[in-house]
Amino acid sequence: MAQLDKVAQIKNFSAKFMARMREPNRDIRISIPVQMDNGSLKIFEGYRVEYNNALGPYKGGIRYHPQIEINEIKALALWMTLKCAVVGIPMGGGKGGITVDPKDLSKEELERLSRGWVRGLFDILGPYKDVPAPDLNTTPEIMAWMADEFEKITGDKTKATFTGKPIKAGGSEGRGPATGLGGFYVFNALKKELGLPEKCKVVIQGFGNVGGNAAHIFAENKHTVIAVSDSKGAIFKKDGLDLEKVETYKKNTGSLKDFPEAKNITNEELLELSCDLLIPAAFENVVTNANVNKIKAKAILELANGPITPEADEILFKKGIPVVPDILANSGGVTVSYFEWDQNLKKEHWTEKEVFGKLKLIMEETSKKISEKAEESKTSLRMGAFILALERIQKKM
Ligand code: NAD
Repeated sequence: MAQLDKVAQIKNFSAKFMARMREPNRDIRISIPVQMDNGSLKIFEGYRVEYNNALGPYKGGIRYHPQIEINEIKALALWMTLKCAVVGIPMGGGKGGITVDPKDLSKEELERLSRGWVRGLFDILGPYKDVPAPDLNTTPEIMAWMADEFEKITGDKTKATFTGKPIKAGGSEGRGPATGLGGFYVFNALKKELGLPEKCKVVIQGFGNVGGNAAHIFAENKHTVIAVSDSKGAIFKKDGLDLEKVETYKKNTGSLKDFPEAKNITNEELLELSCDLLIPAAFENVVTNANVNKIKAKAILELANGPITPEADEILFKKGIPVVPDILANSGGVTVSYFEWDQNLKKEHWTEKEVFGKLKLIMEETSKKISEKAEESKTSLRMGAFILALERIQKKM
């Protein structure tokens, strides 16, 4: 809401339109009964927020996390609405979730819970109504369970209601690395404008789908990844980490901590390292008033959703540290999700080369348009992205 208030000060949007954008079309809370392995019954809380569908069916991931609640899902659903509008795909915005720590469940319990989410919500989902996808702690396998449950209940065989599925269940080539790769294309398109050198020192928070893929992509393109982290802590090596070894170590031990060739540091210290590019790729609100003045990165690429609070964002802008905003930087994921939906409906299967080619084009064109919007209004890239998205939604509404 603070971001919407700010954009309203910069650009003259109609008051009626802005009032509409402040509330989702609907938010739904369900209870999901799950039979646990020990025979007991446990009730979980699930959500779906359908924020805005002016440009197309609601689109957005499902998050499993012990601390999520409806306001967080609403914020994420608004960002999805803006993200789809920014990249110009025919999709609206939504988001969902379940309050759960998936680590506490067996695989069978997790499957029953995921199928339960679909049973609670199937009547509002569908290829032309609402198309969910994975997010934090949800995987292609979970999407396959959900898609299967949806098909069983409704008989819909298009496979286009859930994206982020495994390839054998109708998924798209290239969806795994899409968010990290899209972020890399955006970074490349804006590198000069961000004042960054040809070869950058990169720090990444989070080593999951987004952060892990981004780390590999930046390293493969001759940048030096000097620090990465997971929920248990961070590792730092001044002249660059060997990511293959880091990956193997994490697979074998379950965490990055104590990786032999690097120094252990905390996630807070990681954010404050001297580097060219800082990439938060874990979760929201990690750069705040408390640490923003300690940030030494020359630029920030937001691959996580909402990693910088509005107050900290303002300070970074004043200090001249450019931020590539989440709704641009991480929109590669939803773009390839849209490709998946499109392939499912057309009964096509595109090669990875085709997918990456189309993604690159969209990311480069969008970066250019946002940079022009920001320049026009003498504002940040974030406000440039908001202006572009809101103009498109307002026109359609
Ligand atoms: P993920 O579950 O695969 O990975 C999350 C990573 O963050 C893991 O490495 C985890 O260990 C780490 N983490 C968790 N708690 C942490 C903490 N306290 N400190 C540091 N690291 C911590 O999730 P993901 O799909 O990679 O998503 C990461 C972020 O990117 C989220 O904000 C998500 O909304 C956003 N995002 C994801 C996609 C996508 O395609 N997956 C698309 C757009 C945006």
